Amino acid sequence: MYPFIWRPSDGVRHATKSTEVADGAAFRALCGAECAAADLSEQAWLWATCPECNASAHKLAHEQTALVLP
Ligand SMILES: [Zn+2]
Repeated sequence: MYPFIWRPSDGVRHATKSTEVADGAAFRALCGAECAAADLSEQAWLWATCPECNASAHKLAHEQTALVLP
């Protein structure tokens, strides 16, 4: 389990360290964006990935993997 989740908002898929973000809830993305409302509709999951969140998420995932694997 990675220490972040993906949540679409405002036309972009952001990642966040918040453990639970319900549909319509505000959250802070890894890129620093303050997202007013998560959009968990099916179409929202097809939006483009936020490049800053993508880079941060890969970094977190790599750090997590490094902790698990010697
Ligand atoms: Zn973002």
